[in-house]
Amino acid sequence: MGDITKKIELSYDEFLAEVKKAKKFHGHICGGIFTGIKVALAAKKILNIKKYPDRDLIVITEIDRCLTDAVMSVTGCRLGRKTLKFNDYGKFGATFCSLADGRAVRIAVRPDAMDRIQKEIEKKNIDEHDKESYGLAVFCLPVKQHFIITKTEVNFSEYDLPGRPKVIKPCSMCGENIFDGRHETKNGLACCRPCLNGPGR
Ligand SMILES: [Zn+2]
Ligand SMILES: [Zn+2]
Repeated sequence: MGDITKKIELSYDEFLAEVKKAKKFHGHICGGIFTGIKVALAAKKILNIKKYPDRDLIVITEIDRCLTDAVMSVTGCRLGRKTLKFNDYGKFGATFCSLADGRAVRIAVRPDAMDRIQKEIEKKNIDEHDKESYGLAVFCLPVKQHFIITKTEVNFSEYDLPGRPKVIKPCSMCGENIFDGRHETKNGLACCRPCLNGPGR
């Protein structure tokens, strides 16, 4: 991909349309929503995705906060369709993986990006409650200053891909079915993780 951040120009009209959509999905408008939308639109450019939703796209998000909802809203990727994965790293980042050509890009928010936006807001005397101007300030920060963008590689197991379940095993302890190879094996018997490790794990 060379210098992948070089020529990323996003459309403000597209950004605004996504803000409208994301407001419905997430329940409010906030900095994380603006940022997540920008992340998803940048990924679209970098991976040459024509249109969201793209059936050959899997997104891995890294935080259970606003940014992830924005990425879901823009891309249409969903946990329930196996097109969204969640790595609980507590970081404002997401990896976009094109199953069609195997390319993947991770986009994360630079640690100093929030300060830059804040300074811009103060400089222009923008009221924090003026969401439109706030959104514009987030949008206008150049992609290179806003994000760390890295080309990466992700290999999904057949169990992680969308489609019908490849394997279903009953747990030898509780009897409930375990899908998609998520069972553990103890003494040669299939076990679900909560039976083996305790509830919630
Ligand atoms: Zn929010
Ligand atoms: Zn069990």
